[in-house]
Amino acid sequence: MPSTPQIRSQHVSRRTVLKAGATLLLAVTVPQRANAAQILAVRVWPADDYTRVTLENDTDLKATHFIVKDPERLVVDIEGLDLNPTLKSLVAKIQSNDPYIKQVRVGQNRPNVVRLVFDLKEEVTPQVFTLPPAGNYKHRLIFDLYPVKEVDPIAAMIEKGDWSADDKVAAGPAAAPTPKEQLEQLKPDTRAEPREELKTELKTAEAQVKPEKPGKMVRMLTIALDPGHGGEDPGASGKNGSREKDIVLSIAKRLKSKLEEQPNIRVMLTRDADYFVPLGTRVDKARKVQADLFVSIHADAFVQPTARGSSVFVLSEKGATSSAARWLADKENAADVIGGVNVKNHDKQLASVLFDLSTTAQINDSMKLGRAVLGEIGGINRLHKGSVEQAGFAVLKAPDIPSILIETAFISNPEEEAKLLDEAYQNKLADAIVTGIRRYFAKNPPLSKNRLT
Ligand SMILES: [Zn+2]
Repeated sequence: MPSTPQIRSQHVSRRTVLKAGATLLLAVTVPQRANAAQILAVRVWPADDYTRVTLENDTDLKATHFIVKDPERLVVDIEGLDLNPTLKSLVAKIQSNDPYIKQVRVGQNRPNVVRLVFDLKEEVTPQVFTLPPAGNYKHRLIFDLYPVKEVDPIAAMIEKGDWSADDKVAAGPAAAPTPKEQLEQLKPDTRAEPREELKTELKTAEAQVKPEKPGKMVRMLTIALDPGHGGEDPGASGKNGSREKDIVLSIAKRLKSKLEEQPNIRVMLTRDADYFVPLGTRVDKARKVQADLFVSIHADAFVQPTARGSSVFVLSEKGATSSAARWLADKENAADVIGGVNVKNHDKQLASVLFDLSTTAQINDSMKLGRAVLGEIGGINRLHKGSVEQAGFAVLKAPDIPSILIETAFISNPEEEAKLLDEAYQNKLADAIVTGIRRYFAKNPPLSKNRLT
């Protein structure tokens, strides 16, 4: 039949027109579809303090969020996004022991909009914000899920079984020990014979304090240990792939248990897992537990792999003691940019820490502590510089707590990287820091404390 091909041809052409129309319609309603943002990576950082979910993207994303009750859910809609396998991998990244997230569901809610539904284990205060490219990261969209009730560091330590409930009482003003008692606590135990210098220091300190009527309880000395970086912020990295955040956490944990072997010393870690803690929060935590000392642990890095040696830093009131120290402080202070803080909260936090107060007394005490610790570290590793250096490290800005930052060694130096990964070296380093702290306390017994809170 001659008509058949004609009909067929008409039919085909009508279909083609329809198809073209559909494409056109799609193009009108979803104009950005061709440039849909790409999710490059998803990361989850669960911690008791807060759980963070990061979506790293090739462009800045717009997200809206809301909470749905019964059961508790956080719903997030992200515009200009198509579902891809990287984003779908988020589902498998939520661990069953995540403190706040039960599970997450990911779906294309409507063209161009991806919806994430976080099923929650408890009520949370979400912070949703974006970060511009920083460090090795492109654009980031961040969901920080905080517990509604703020975590109290002392309660958290007790809950973990790290501190006893009595410690809380012992930390109170009624528990002030006599100077004599404190000296007794600080004397080296009989297992290790003190060095001659230390004996002399203890004698001098003993002569300086007058005996008072005996108190009933002995005040606990609280030391805040601050393993640098964590979570989104890996810190420096070595040639062989080791990361500063892992090494310093390991050293800090060793140091904690060695310090707690000493009588009447308890330790608070500003972080005890792999998650990011903003610099101001580290200081806040130390102040909340009324720490007697703040010790931040880091591992140095430099472009030249030959740079080596340990160093100790304290805060500076008027500029840095060297350009290298200033450079290092800038680098360490960039932790907040790479780790990622919500700018809205950040300003509030800094304001609470950096109130206008002379920090001269703090710096003087910190120098004494720094010298004592540097002297001991010098016995186990070459020193980068023979003296304590000063610069404007944000993490050392507690106005009322002697604070030091230890650069344990250069992770960028392959030989020192190997040392930093060595268990025996980590132990030796921790022992040296313990001895340095004891020497400091022996010379500067923490008597009555007038706190600024
Ligand atoms: Zn560092």
